[in-house]
Amino acid sequence: MKKYNFGAGPCILPREVIEKTASAILDFNGIGLSIAEISHRSKDFQPVMDEAMALVKEILNVPEGYSVLFLGGGASLEFCMIPFNFLVKKAGYLNTGVWAKKAMKEAKLFGDVVEVASSADENYTYLPKNFDVPTDLDYLHITTNNTIYGTEYHKDLDVSVRMIGDMSSDIFSRPVDVSKYDCIYGGAQKLSMAGVTFIIIKDDVLGRVQREIPTMLDYRTHIKKGSMFNTPPVVPIYTALENLRWIKANGGVEAMEKLAKERADIVYDEIDRNKLFRGTVKCEEDRSYMNICFVLNDEYADLQDEFFKFATERGMVGIKGHRDVGGFRASCYNAMSVEGCKALVETMKEFEAKH
Ligand SMILES: *Cc1c(COP(=O)(O)O)cnc(C)c1O
Repeated sequence: MKKYNFGAGPCILPREVIEKTASAILDFNGIGLSIAEISHRSKDFQPVMDEAMALVKEILNVPEGYSVLFLGGGASLEFCMIPFNFLVKKAGYLNTGVWAKKAMKEAKLFGDVVEVASSADENYTYLPKNFDVPTDLDYLHITTNNTIYGTEYHKDLDVSVRMIGDMSSDIFSRPVDVSKYDCIYGGAQKLSMAGVTFIIIKDDVLGRVQREIPTMLDYRTHIKKGSMFNTPPVVPIYTALENLRWIKANGGVEAMEKLAKERADIVYDEIDRNKLFRGTVKCEEDRSYMNICFVLNDEYADLQDEFFKFATERGMVGIKGHRDVGGFRASCYNAMSVEGCKALVETMKEFEAKH
């Protein structure tokens, strides 16, 4: 039976990216050694790093004056590194979910933190809009796609201050105006395999804070050394490179956005039509293309386990909702096919017919 991976992260990767990674682990570029056993400073690995950095810049149309890094630690370590390196006096945070809250918690260790807007009052089922942004912020931190709740800002916000974006779960799924951001980052288990974090940084914003920064937590250390101050996660970086090549070959972020919308429309249309289900996000325009969250209507609530089993038996993998939301979550990252979304819709229809 064909399996469709709707897992939120680690997540679906294009089959050819997995095959190329497997092949590089066995024999990298025909050199008779595995990519996992060669020096990261070798002439064989350096081009991997160089091309991965260059492709991030090319695909996202990153302006001059920005650096790209591939580090360890996940997005969660960035929650601390960002304020360590960027927070001089006061930063603003949009509280749109658990990840945003975690980022805000770390920032409070380094300076004044203003919660500029929040949707906590309704369990993050909508995105704050039309909020006032203080003009004296060092930066406004936003989470562009809220993986757990299925809300997403589909366009870059228009604000008068510099932004920092956690784009862990929607990077490379739409064009981004990078010039609005001092930093964009994300755990790359939603882009590559777990173990690598991508960071895009505006160089001239660094060095403004007065505090001492431990060497490994100072972005300048990594920029100076081309993301190789210490041993980088070589295999996940290689997988990221193959995925970036795949994105480029398939039309780049414009094509990814079109596909994302097509997939999301297919699944949301069925959620709205099917008598058993309803979406959890209040406002239609806030619905994420990446993480589609839905629950059973109240009168069918006791079918929860049954639908999960029914869907799993038909090859739908990883659709259990996050415990904070309940119900179901179909994550549809770049590598998810339209066919996969249609298969999910068929499953929902069959289940409806049965009840
Ligand atoms: C997955 C995720 C994180 C956490 O990433 P880690 O690499 O596991 O630390 C942070 N923010 C968002 C939006 C995520 O989806």
